[in-house]
Amino acid sequence: MNILILGSGGREHALAWAILQNPKCDRLIVAPGNAGIAQLAECAALDILDGEAVVAFATDHAVDLVVVGPEAPLAAGVADICRAAGLAVFGPSAAAARLESSKVFTKAICAACDAPTAAYAHFIDAAAARAYVAAQGAPIVVKADGLAAGKGVVVAMTMAEALAAVDDIMGGALGDGGAEVVIEAFMTGEEASFFVLCDGTTILPVGTAQDHKRAFDGDTGPNTGGMGAYTPAPVMTPAVTQAAIDRIVRPVVAEMAARGTPFTGVLFVGLMIEAGAPRLVEFNVRFGDPECQGLMMRLGGQILDLLQACATGRLDTQQVHWADDHALTVVMAANGYPGAYAKGSAIRGLDTLAEDSFHMTFHAGTAQRDGRITADGGRVLGVTARGATLNEARDRAYGMVDAIDWPDGFCRRDIGWRAL
Ligand code: ATP
Repeated sequence: MNILILGSGGREHALAWAILQNPKCDRLIVAPGNAGIAQLAECAALDILDGEAVVAFATDHAVDLVVVGPEAPLAAGVADICRAAGLAVFGPSAAAARLESSKVFTKAICAACDAPTAAYAHFIDAAAARAYVAAQGAPIVVKADGLAAGKGVVVAMTMAEALAAVDDIMGGALGDGGAEVVIEAFMTGEEASFFVLCDGTTILPVGTAQDHKRAFDGDTGPNTGGMGAYTPAPVMTPAVTQAAIDRIVRPVVAEMAARGTPFTGVLFVGLMIEAGAPRLVEFNVRFGDPECQGLMMRLGGQILDLLQACATGRLDTQQVHWADDHALTVVMAANGYPGAYAKGSAIRGLDTLAEDSFHMTFHAGTAQRDGRITADGGRVLGVTARGATLNEARDRAYGMVDAIDWPDGFCRRDIGWRAL
């Protein structure tokens, strides 16, 4: 099979690494890819938001399966355009991707199928939103309707913060994504992520994870795209997992199918778990990064069979054969991230690291200059290790981190603390 992955992050590096272990993979191309991906697969320059360009490229290269990594091409309808051209695609239609691209839509779907989530109201008028906040009081959560690269949610602990969030979001700080807001009740509990493959009708759980969103140790500092993750998540006991499937995943998948917009791809279910009961925080319609890195290390080459079955409506033929162990990813980021940071600093020592089924350094934002790997983004590396226990995975991952010579980067030293 010839496979084309769209994307350029640690998620796509991990997908590429796992897919290459499957003997069915003849040729793998990643567009646009990054310096780490280029060490194991072909990279191609391609505008991945341009569906027609993706179709032309895939046709030219006799691609049998297109795997869409990030949300932006999905929301832009790239999967629809590929499917209309007869290509097998892993990733939802733009209509189904609204489960991520519109919080108003997701809330309406949950209401229609009685899936547990925070109580909410939805506003297109800032004065009405302010009045609602004043009536409800704090803590309260204000969310822009549309995609906002993680900046569209304010968990407000005071009324003043909540009112400022309404003014900011609806005042145009986020562009069109903030024209409408969802204001929802504050939920307490422990968060976890649950990943479920879906081919429109059949669902297949492919693991759980927890991530660390704050920049610094002890879960302090500003919010980031994720500073590390581990899988599985201990809070996702069999009972909690079953409740999430029965009360959230199945009803939502059935509701999407009944509306004529079946969901295909991976549903990333963000949950808040309190007293054994999961409630939905959000859906994403793609794998999370860094969570994907540990999941791919534990799934290995079977991921290709799973993605293909998803894309061709045959998920009922598949089973997940787990490496019944743990994986942990430590993200190394450029100094200054998530604020301003410099690009271009050299990263040394990577060639001394083991790269095998227990150790991998996935690249999220790197470039190759004059034969050297340099930092080319905020989150730069995902140092990932597997182990029989989470402790073992953690020790292996930090052993690798310590062998990387990059004075211009930093990482958290406490990834996994909650589970350990
Ligand atoms: P992401 O960048 O994770 O995709 P997002 O911008 O889509 O995030 P959400 O996931 O909806 O936003 O919210 C971001 C974070 O805010 C959640 O991970 C959670 O910690 C917190 N949060 C969201 N909704 C609530 C809520 N109702 N109660 C408490 N915390 C919440």
